[in-house]
Amino acid sequence: MPNQHTNQRELFETSPAWAEDDARQGIVATVVLPDGIDKPLDYLVPESLAGAVEPGRRVRVPLGRSNRERLAYCVAVRSGELPQSPLKSVAGVEDDAPLLSRRMIELTKWMADRWLARWGEVLEAVLPAGVRLRKKVRLEPLLGATGAEPVRPPTPAQARVLAAAATPATAADLAQASGVSRAVIARLLKIGLLRTAGSVDRQRHVGPSTAASRQPITHDRPDALSPPQAAALEAILNPLRGGRHETVVLFGVTGSGKTEVYLQAVEETLSYGKQAIVLVPEISLTPQTCDRFRARFGSVAVLHSHLTPAERHSQWREIAAGKVGVVVGARSAIFAPTPRLGLIVIDEEHEATFKQATAPRYNARDVAEWIARAEGVPLVLGSATPALETFHKCLQGEWQMCRLPGRVGGSQLPPVLSVDLRDPQSRSRGAVSPRLAAGIRWALDGGGQVMLLLNRRGFATAVQCRACGDTARCVQCDLALTLHQPGSRGICHGCGLVKRLPTVCPSCAAPNLVPRGTGTQRLEDQIRAAFPAARVARMDTDTMRSRGSHERTLDAFRNREIDILVGTQMIAKGLDFPAVMLVGVVNADAALHLADFRASERTCQLVTQVAGRSGRGSLGGRVVVQTSTPDHPAIRAAAAHDYEAFVRSELPIREALLYPPFGSIVRFVVRSVDEQAAEDWAGHIVGRLRKEAGDDPVIRVLGPAPAPITRLRDRFRWHVQIHGPDGAHLRDLVRRATASLKTPDNVAWIIDVDPVEML
Ligand code: ADP
Ligand code: ZN
Repeated sequence: MPNQHTNQRELFETSPAWAEDDARQGIVATVVLPDGIDKPLDYLVPESLAGAVEPGRRVRVPLGRSNRERLAYCVAVRSGELPQSPLKSVAGVEDDAPLLSRRMIELTKWMADRWLARWGEVLEAVLPAGVRLRKKVRLEPLLGATGAEPVRPPTPAQARVLAAAATPATAADLAQASGVSRAVIARLLKIGLLRTAGSVDRQRHVGPSTAASRQPITHDRPDALSPPQAAALEAILNPLRGGRHETVVLFGVTGSGKTEVYLQAVEETLSYGKQAIVLVPEISLTPQTCDRFRARFGSVAVLHSHLTPAERHSQWREIAAGKVGVVVGARSAIFAPTPRLGLIVIDEEHEATFKQATAPRYNARDVAEWIARAEGVPLVLGSATPALETFHKCLQGEWQMCRLPGRVGGSQLPPVLSVDLRDPQSRSRGAVSPRLAAGIRWALDGGGQVMLLLNRRGFATAVQCRACGDTARCVQCDLALTLHQPGSRGICHGCGLVKRLPTVCPSCAAPNLVPRGTGTQRLEDQIRAAFPAARVARMDTDTMRSRGSHERTLDAFRNREIDILVGTQMIAKGLDFPAVMLVGVVNADAALHLADFRASERTCQLVTQVAGRSGRGSLGGRVVVQTSTPDHPAIRAAAAHDYEAFVRSELPIREALLYPPFGSIVRFVVRSVDEQAAEDWAGHIVGRLRKEAGDDPVIRVLGPAPAPITRLRDRFRWHVQIHGPDGAHLRDLVRRATASLKTPDNVAWIIDVDPVEML
């Protein structure tokens, strides 16, 4: 007890000085909770933890009056003067190494700000679940793998534990899973039937399970690039070699050689010992795509949604250790911890799936640009139909656009025939007009294959009463039930509710219920009836539920085991089938009239994409587009293979309305079981927004209004939108308006910044 040695003089002269110093110097950690309090909190770092508390690691901190310990992300550490008010101390450190680099922490902060999300939820979102798992000792059976017999057979309780431990788990989880007490587990450990699992690192590098069994597709590196390909590659390699950021947009039809340009840019990146991230829509993560990267490069990690948390964790660690050169994956692969990042590529960059539909509602395209800028590396965006936002940035000169105008090898884009569905002739025989039927016959007779796109699954899109006109609706959603066969089930595509459809009208009791509208099931039936000799398959979420079925169907189609493939937009994406001679778009208007300002953009993109599937081989090809609005600019442009014409007609409309890319939108969706409560709260938000906006003429507040889907899963939905030309300004306004909102108990609401989904 050194203090007792101080004599009077020391106490008098020195004590005030060092006592004061002592009180004011120290180490402070700023932490962010994954949920609950949104504000970063400061804690004192006790000396015992001084080296261990660092940004990117998780720490345990006492919270509230009860000082309950919570896990939190340390985002900053500073040493120096302490604040006046006393700080609580960090209680412990969770991770032995940072999970996040400082740059990632910075990114999460930016994302929270950019999409009005909570910082904590962004931190959680950028780390795969397997990484976030609390670090615990995992147990596994000692002898299970070798098959050796234990001296004494295990008791039934022990056997249950050993079975449950087939996948390594913590003692607590094992106890719970097998319904035994912890003592049983302790006993198993003691007698050596259980042991501590090695680590998740032992998980093998995992790819799609079908990859090994399939024939490899060899994509040889072509001897020479076409001049536009060479120019595009040069545009990427310039900043790559100079260590500069630049965004390069590859605008080229499917088959124009974009992927080959990505591959060669990645090749050069790897030659510098750097890493590349390639983002594709989840649906394109087929073995075909991945094999193309694997065939060219040795170390490719594929991050797809079927990975288990442990597999994801192990890949994450290999990437972080720099052992992986190329990361191919969907949206969240952008957060792969690449220490030597050299290039980011986003294929099909216009796809809405790059925006996350749940909080944090980030857009991977914008995240990629932030990272590429911060790291000083090129970002490549490729599409046959770039998003209008992307197009606009190129027109502004902010991004560089490289056009790949034709298909590699010079095969012509197929002629497109529009069939006007308003003409009664064209509807005389179900969903397939005589001219589409003639096209199908032409393709089959010519030894080719057919793809038919109909973006509605099920048999009929509604069941309607012929007497009173009412349609059968979901009891908990404001949506018509879709008729699915067999069994005449009514399925709600909003909530998934399955119901036996009534035989008489629920409103007027007339026995006159008839199916209306055609879904993929009915189309398949009609096609089978009309072309009995053809082999027909259907590809939609109903037929593609089991893992690997998507690949199996595509393989069968590629191997010519299927003549006609009927499907939803699933069939429209990215694949190269040389024998397809006819593509039919059964109803091009299906999505055109949705209450979404992007409806025409999406329609044009979808029709353009699917039209590009035809005639890629030597057989030639045609496209038939059935539409009730053949003169709509989106349909006309797609039919002319002239996406840019659509862009030219659409941009001025967006500009006049201050829609993206000329303005930003923040959308609020309010849900409640009580319709009045939903409306009231939406109204309250509008009031707050209007008050903040004052009489600013460029800010527009729309609503409250019922959302296009007015009721979903028994919740009434109201929405509010605020538009303004400047995104940052708009977000500030929204932040102020919503700062101190006390949400009523029976209401839930979300904020979506720059939404891509407006229903
Ligand atoms: P996209 O990604 O635009 O659809 P791809 O890169 O897949 O286009 O190219 C289409 C096809 O042409 C592929 O089979 C590819 O291997 C081939 N290809 C691409 N570039 C060349 C080239 N310069 N010479 C010969 N074949 C090429
Ligand atoms: Zn429903």
